[in-house]
Amino acid sequence: MKPSFTALVSTLLIVGCFAADPTPPKTKTTSSMDSEKPVVVKSESEWKKKLTEEQYRVTREAGTERPFGLAYEEFDKQGEGTYYCVCCGAELFTSTQKFHSGCGWPSFYDQSSAKNIRELVDNSGGMHRIETVCKRCDAHLGHVFEGEGYKTPTDRRFCINGVALKFVPKGGKAPELEAIASEAVQKKKADVAKEGGVEVRK
Ligand SMILES: [Zn+2]
Repeated sequence: MKPSFTALVSTLLIVGCFAADPTPPKTKTTSSMDSEKPVVVKSESEWKKKLTEEQYRVTREAGTERPFGLAYEEFDKQGEGTYYCVCCGAELFTSTQKFHSGCGWPSFYDQSSAKNIRELVDNSGGMHRIETVCKRCDAHLGHVFEGEGYKTPTDRRFCINGVALKFVPKGGKAPELEAIASEAVQKKKADVAKEGGVEVRK
C-alpha cells in the first residue's frame, strides 16, 4: 500500500522541523594545519558546569565577546604574568607577548613557549581567517591575523577573547590542568560530536 498523502506531509514536516533547528551545531569549514587531537575531552554538560555562560559560548561554541568589554578592561590593567586556557589550564600566552593593538580584544604577537595553541583555517562567514584553539581541549580562543603592520617581532596579532583566558600574575599559582581523558572517552566524544546538535539544551 502507498503511504497516504497526509502521512507523507507529516513526515516532511517532521524532517523540516529538524532542518530548521534554531540552534544548529557550529558548521565552520575548518581544517587543521596539524593533526594532533585534543586530549582533554568533556561532554557539553560537563563544560557547562565548569564555565560561565559567556565562557561556554565563546570557548565551546566559537563565540566572540564584544570588543572593549569587561574582560578587555581587566586585560588592559594586568601586569606581568601568564595566561592560561580557562577550560583546561594549558599555558597559552605570557605578558611578554602582549601588545596594545587598539582593536578592543586582548592582543598578543605570539603564543608562549609552551606552544599549546593550534591554528585552523576558518572559512566561515565568507571570510578566510585563521582560528586559534587550545591544543589540549579544543577551546576556541579567537583568531590570528598577520602582516597588519604592527611594530612587533612577528607582525602577527593573536586576537583573543578575554573570557577564554585565565590570568595569573607573576609568582602566582598556575591553575590546575584538567586531566587527560582516557582513549575510550576520547573516542566516545568523537562519536557524540558526529551527532552534533542532538543534545537537548537544559
Ligand atoms: Zn584548553
